Formats: sequence, structure tokens, C-alpha cells
Amino acid sequence: MAGAIDREIERLFGKLGKLGWSRDDCELIAPVTLEINELKREQNAIVLAHSYQTPDIMYGVGDFVGDSYGLSVKATEHPARKIVFCSVYFMGETAKLLNPEKQVLVPRRAGCSLADAVNAEQVRTLRGENPDAGIVCYVNTYAEVKAECDACCTSSNAVEVVEAMPQDEIIFLPDRLMGENLARISSRKITVWDGTCVVHEGFDVNSVRDIRERFPGVKILAHPECAPGLIAAVDFAGGTEGMLRYVAESPAQTFMLVTECGLTDRFKAEFRDKEIVGTCILCPYMKEIQLDDVLQAFKDPVPEQIIEIPPDIAARARRSLDKMFELEKAGRKLLQERGRGKLPWTAAS
Ligand code: SF4
Repeated sequence: MAGAIDREIERLFGKLGKLGWSRDDCELIAPVTLEINELKREQNAIVLAHSYQTPDIMYGVGDFVGDSYGLSVKATEHPARKIVFCSVYFMGETAKLLNPEKQVLVPRRAGCSLADAVNAEQVRTLRGENPDAGIVCYVNTYAEVKAECDACCTSSNAVEVVEAMPQDEIIFLPDRLMGENLARISSRKITVWDGTCVVHEGFDVNSVRDIRERFPGVKILAHPECAPGLIAAVDFAGGTEGMLRYVAESPAQTFMLVTECGLTDRFKAEFRDKEIVGTCILCPYMKEIQLDDVLQAFKDPVPEQIIEIPPDIAARARRSLDKMFELEKAGRKLLQERGRGKLPWTAAS
């Protein structure tokens, strides 16, 4: 056992050392990560770790690290029978919708300021009051909300989905700021719901200006959940995968990420030759999840950690996700026909 622990400490230090973790820090968590990794093998399970999780979860026990939708899709391609999704609750629900035959657990039933901003009853009321409008929901919603909408979208296909909707008027929910960003570039009339992400609404355009002055040549990347004024001032706006691609392909050396601190850590760990500057904001919901919760979910899960979605809601929510694929394809074709290709969130990206 001592040999196994020593090897685990070395493995952890190899990954976390570059993020400032000491060998002593790694020694403290090694027994827990070792046990979780053994339980994964015994239970034919994988751990999905959202990029906003802490590094001990991402690099200590995560089999895949990424954004919520990409991870859920990845799990469909993996033979594991059980998924422990280190993320907030609605993300676990999305994984369950795409992997209905697998057991899906979340270490904690954590909320999210965006997903908590709207419920199914409110969408039904909107529908009743706006019978001619199409309703598109961002993937950051609960399954019961997805079930009431015409289509779902992610930050990387929202423009295509909205452009391909058959209605002229679109109600976009729950993210007001992403909806306002969409309204700037879309040909549709977009009405927004008043939800926000507590992380991305916290940044303002002055922080971007300040970083440009302090680091000449810096490239600034932001998530489209940020305010339109800020999005207009950055070099690239998009989701996690788009940001990763941008940094990997850019000849620039210095970057600022206007997003959650976990993603900043991930970029520091994965782009050793680049410099990541500026501040980040912690998501209090994502940070509720601790390594011990992951261990407990494997050893003795309680009902609130196990994702169950009533079959009628799951079927309608899944339809909303399937519609997203159909509209994304159609929207891409439409934009190409209009000679615009993929529409960027920001003029400069
Ligand atoms: S970062 Fe924002 S959208 Fe993501 S879980 Fe936290 S509050 Fe929700």
C-alpha cells in the first residue's frame, strides 16, 4: 500500500505541481484519489470533471475534463456503466438525458444562478402569453425547462440554432446577457429572460482595458455569458472548446481568460509555454463539490446524488436536445448561403 500511495503522490505532483501544489498537499489527498480511482475500476465507472472544478478533482480523479455538454456526449461513447459527474445538478441531468441506460450521479446537488432563474411553470406561462414566439433555452437549464422549450442550444451553436428557428420572434432563456449578445448579431427579434451567471456577470469592461494597458499584445478571451459591452472589447468570445482552440492556434504568448478560475487553472496546466494573466472569479456552486463528496458518492450514494428524471420529462427534454442538432445543421447552412459562415460573438474574433 505504501508503494501505491507513493506512486499516487508522484502522479498527483506531476499534474498539480505546475499549479502551485506542494508535495505535502499531494500527500494529503493521495489516499482519497487512490481509493476513488480503484472504486472506478471496480464499479466500471468514469468521473467527468467540469473545467470549473478544483484541480484535485480535475487532475486527481477526472477521466475527462471539459464543458458540460461535451462531457455528456463523451460519456455516450464510453463503455462505463456508471458516471459520476463532478459539476452542478443540471449538468448531471444533461448527462442522464444523453446516457439514459447508465447510472449518473453528482457528488452534491449543487444549484446554478442561471438554471435556478427559470422553472417549467414560468416557461408554460411564457408560451401561453406568446403563442407565436419560438422558445430556445440555453443548455444551462433543468430538464423540466428543456422539456417545455422548442429547442436547446449551447454557447457554441446558439447563433445557428436561433437563425434556423421557424419563428421570427424568439424568446431566449434563461441567460439575459447571452441573449443580448445574440440579439446583437442575429437577424431574429430576441426577447430575453432575466437570468445571469454570477461568475460572468461579475466582470466589467474596465478590467479588460486595464489588462490591455498592462500587457501589450495580450489576447483576451471571454465567455458569451458576459455583458455585451465586454464581449465587444475582447479578441475572442466562445465556450471552453473554442477558447482552447484559440489559445492552441494563436501565436500570441499572453492571454487573459474572462471566466471562472477553474478554467484558468486548466489553461495554466495545459499550456505551459503560454502566460495566463489577469483575474478570475470562482463559481460558488461548482466549488461546493469536494473530493470527499466524490468518494462518498462511490461508497454510499444517497438518493439526492442519483439522477432520476421522470420519463415524460426526459422524453420531451431529449426532443429539445435533438432539435438543437437539427437546427444547428440547418443554421450553419443558412449562414453559409448568406455568405457569413460561422458568426462570431464578437466583431474582433
Ligand atoms: S459558472 Fe455560472 S453558469 Fe456555470 S454553474 Fe456557476 S453560476 Fe452556473
